[in-house]
Amino acid sequence: MAELILRDLAKTYPGASTRATDDVSLDVADGEFMVLLGPSGCGKTTLLRMVAGLELPDAGQIVIGGKDVTYLEPRRRNLSMVFQSYAVFPNKKVADNIGFGLRMRGVPADGVRRKVEWAADLLQLRPYLDRYPSRLSGGQRQRVAVARAIVMDADILLMDEPLSNLDALLRLNFRAELKKLVAELGTTTLYVTHDQVEALSLGDRVAVLRDGVLVQCGPPGAVYDEPADEFVGGFLGSPPMNFLTGTVCTDEGRPRVDFGGQSVPVPAALSSYHGKRLRLGIRPEAIQLGDGGGLRGELQVLEPLGASALLTTDVCGQTIKVQAPATFRAEPGRRLALRLPVDQCRWYDPETSLLLE
Ligand code: ATP
Repeated sequence: MAELILRDLAKTYPGASTRATDDVSLDVADGEFMVLLGPSGCGKTTLLRMVAGLELPDAGQIVIGGKDVTYLEPRRRNLSMVFQSYAVFPNKKVADNIGFGLRMRGVPADGVRRKVEWAADLLQLRPYLDRYPSRLSGGQRQRVAVARAIVMDADILLMDEPLSNLDALLRLNFRAELKKLVAELGTTTLYVTHDQVEALSLGDRVAVLRDGVLVQCGPPGAVYDEPADEFVGGFLGSPPMNFLTGTVCTDEGRPRVDFGGQSVPVPAALSSYHGKRLRLGIRPEAIQLGDGGGLRGELQVLEPLGASALLTTDVCGQTIKVQAPATFRAEPGRRLALRLPVDQCRWYDPETSLLLE
């Protein structure tokens, strides 16, 4: 096991006009599960490939366990990688697939067998050791790929969207299995995904990337509750965080933000924004339906979602999504009182999109 440190990693592919990664710095603690999250093209895979040694950075440094590995050959970095495609050898039985790397390393047959059986037990592959991959399901094949990676006792485990080829139910089950497995192994892990649910579920910390830039890094709860900018608030959560634009005014000496005839209080620290615009960010599930206080919205659409109901409401011409109890019933056009708990409101600068205070 080892700590992984990325320092100012910059990479521009030949002929590209923008940087694939832009001075990314990240410390992954020994035994930590770090998720790289972001939309397609944000540079996640490029970062992972630089750590693996499959891509060289233009500038910056990669340190594993105190050793600078930036320009070291991949096979000398002592890391294992699991790819999105199952990447198993079709002409080798499951046991031979799992033990392949160990045999290449010259581990004696006995040692290989013991390690293969250990991994097969962890990943529930015992009954399939003598099968060829063509006779396995997608989920089982991906388990083989994970087993092959963990037998190597690598310092760092790298995973690039390992669940993305699985169907929804399999993905859900395998996600939980993977979480349990990695917790048991305690291996430092860097995990790439564009799926925010996966990131929140698996990560000790989540690093959100956008256009090659690391926007925010923190525990899943913190990144979800206090998005550093509007992009993060919009990317995490389904439906995403609501954002409303208003103007700061004063009512009986207290600062409020007005959305066009309706207003809510803002923290005193933001009174310096008097007369200026502010953006309010609030999660759909943080809004309470009830009497009095808050904002008045007009119900436009009610979508029953099984465990809850999603309401689309109009507040002074701006849309707010509200997550309501599954039992909520109302016809479109109905006026609703939306209470916005002060501790759930986040404030953003409309120019920079950055979280204020
Ligand atoms: P995805 O989720 O779609 O895999 P990603 O976040 O992993 O995306 P990267 O694959 O790292 O993103 O790509 C980052 C940027 O670099 C993108 O703009 C992409 O088009 C570009 N890029 C990636 N690989 C190459 C390459 N081999 N040559 C040129 N440009 C590349």
